[in-house]
Amino acid sequence: QINRVSDLERLSAIGQISAGIAHEIRNPLTSVKGFLQLMQKEHESSYWEIINSELEQAISTVQNLLSVSKPETNEENFTVVNLCEILENTLSLFDHEMYRVQVEKRFYNTSSKIFGKRNQLKRAIFNLLKNAYEAIEGNGTITVEHYRSNDVVCISISDTGKGIPSDKLSQLGTPFFTTKTDSGTGLGLSQVYSTFHEHKATIYVDSTENQGTKFTIRIPTTDRLESHEQMKPVFDKTMDV
Ligand code: ADP
Ligand code: MG
Repeated sequence: QINRVSDLERLSAIGQISAGIAHEIRNPLTSVKGFLQLMQKEHESSYWEIINSELEQAISTVQNLLSVSKPETNEENFTVVNLCEILENTLSLFDHEMYRVQVEKRFYNTSSKIFGKRNQLKRAIFNLLKNAYEAIEGNGTITVEHYRSNDVVCISISDTGKGIPSDKLSQLGTPFFTTKTDSGTGLGLSQVYSTFHEHKATIYVDSTENQGTKFTIRIPTTDRLESHEQMKPVFDKTMDV
């Protein structure tokens, strides 16, 4: 069991440089996407789907890279968010994997809220789920938990996939660390770690080779949420404990 949140501050120089490049690439990619959508309305083609998904892949890589190394280019504000909602929405993006992977949801205290950056959190949860699906070759199960314990909201994502060798655990979260030789960017977990770090969360990884991996994230509901509540007396009082 490791806790790597504390050494997240040290992002490699190469990560910083790549973030600069990513920033330059994101805008043209986004505008290409817009024009493609216009063209799609005018011309029939069976290639649109492939073009779109490749483009989405490129944009997603660039977004990950940006949110890892250059938080200042990601000017999202903290708001009151419900992690259960984000988990549900993000899980639905993987519906096409349902034929092979079973998802077990254990959601408790579903109305609990945290103070967070919604889009960053969505991306982080997406990245964790994507890894879980990718770790499972063939059939398996992904278990997603959500519960609140005192002033901490806890989520966990576990899979029955191939696991992480213990000598690799310390490298998790390092930008560009990947064992996926053809398809990996090694940026997903960096985004996960930096996002949860920004939310003052703790991340625990528990993994056994050939058995599976469990990521547990404990996010404090934070003083900011409490002061936010005090400022707005009409704020949802149904928060469960
Ligand atoms: P990528 O998925 O592009 O390889 P990530 O940063 O998302 O990059 O993950 C880095 C590496 O961590 C992966 O290549 C894999 O070796 C390991 N890893 C992450 N999550 C899991 C998981 N749920 N099961 C097994 N290995 C994992
Ligand atoms: Mg990944």
